[in-house]
Amino acid sequence: MTLVARPGALTDIGLHRKTNEDTFVVAPPLFAVCDGMGGAQAGEVASGLAAETLAAAVADGRPLLAAAEQANAAVFQLASVDSDHAGMGTTLTAVVLAADTGHFVHIGDSRAYLLRGGVLEQISEDHSLVGEMVRDGRLSAEEAASHPHRSILSRALGTEPLARIDEFEVDLQAGDVLLLCSDGLSGAVSAEAIRKALDRADPDDAAARLISEARKHGGPDNITAVVLRLDEPRAADEEVELAVLADETATVALAAPVSPPPPEGAADAPPPEGATDVPPPAPSRGAKRRLGYFALVLALLVVVAFVGVLTLSTVFYVGVDDGRLAVYSGLPAALGPLHLHAVYRRSSVAYEALGPAERRLVDEQGLHTHGGIMALEETLGMWP
Ligand code: MG
Repeated sequence: MTLVARPGALTDIGLHRKTNEDTFVVAPPLFAVCDGMGGAQAGEVASGLAAETLAAAVADGRPLLAAAEQANAAVFQLASVDSDHAGMGTTLTAVVLAADTGHFVHIGDSRAYLLRGGVLEQISEDHSLVGEMVRDGRLSAEEAASHPHRSILSRALGTEPLARIDEFEVDLQAGDVLLLCSDGLSGAVSAEAIRKALDRADPDDAAARLISEARKHGGPDNITAVVLRLDEPRAADEEVELAVLADETATVALAAPVSPPPPEGAADAPPPEGATDVPPPAPSRGAKRRLGYFALVLALLVVVAFVGVLTLSTVFYVGVDDGRLAVYSGLPAALGPLHLHAVYRRSSVAYEALGPAERRLVDEQGLHTHGGIMALEETLGMWP
């Protein structure tokens, strides 16, 4: 039987981190969580790149494991050519839903859980130092939860040319709830609290509840939850999907370029490009009128240009030319390739030498008359 997945997904920076290095993917039938690691912003780059590459490869029809290997190659490649990103990596826990089967790939310490009949089960293995120790029987699950080295990964995506990625399948039933989450959630929230949150009917609600639980427990890390509630399709589902599609079509149509409105008075004339057409041997009344408009527009342009030049040569502002202060005449703007200003005189004072208040005076590029600009030049000490 084909099941329908209702997703609810959220990510949160938590209470102690400066950036959110987690990324999630909701691109049915693909759902994934990535938790990046690496100095500076490299973790964010790794998780984002892995998620993007994975989603694109799955959309291209690649099997999930091959798509994950492609994501590994993309992250590893960037980490090896760019010293800013050296050593970066990410976890990846992903599922593709097909009919009533969940195809999973997993590497790192993000987790996949299944809630069935009120029982919560972790269906992924943690690829972490303490995870290995728990499996070897050297550490209890309780000891692992507070172990100082619990965030050290034994496997990650993007840190080796070939990643050892787990692959498994789960037969799903109507009523099942899947959770993909980063360790910022599983490390902060007890299994019992996760079970209770997943029991909520609405997956968006469940995800929000999980995030707030993790924050309540200190939110030491970035927190991400992707909740999937699996149900039998309802008769209305097909209609809902069609409605969404119709909506998207409407958005695309709105976003498409809109042709410019015809000029005033041209309502009964052909489109504007007609103005440059070769005139017909015997001009019609419409064509004559068009010529009249053309002459009028030309005359107006000449007047505007004349006023413009006059304005540009009587208005001044202080800007920066090659690091040094300069007085410009005109406006600090451009009309396409045409600059509406020219350097009027250059100072030897460097912008860098100015104090913050003086820099602000320069940055705001205020317009001045000739008298005004002389006062500003003095304030800025442009001619020592
Ligand atoms: Mg984390």
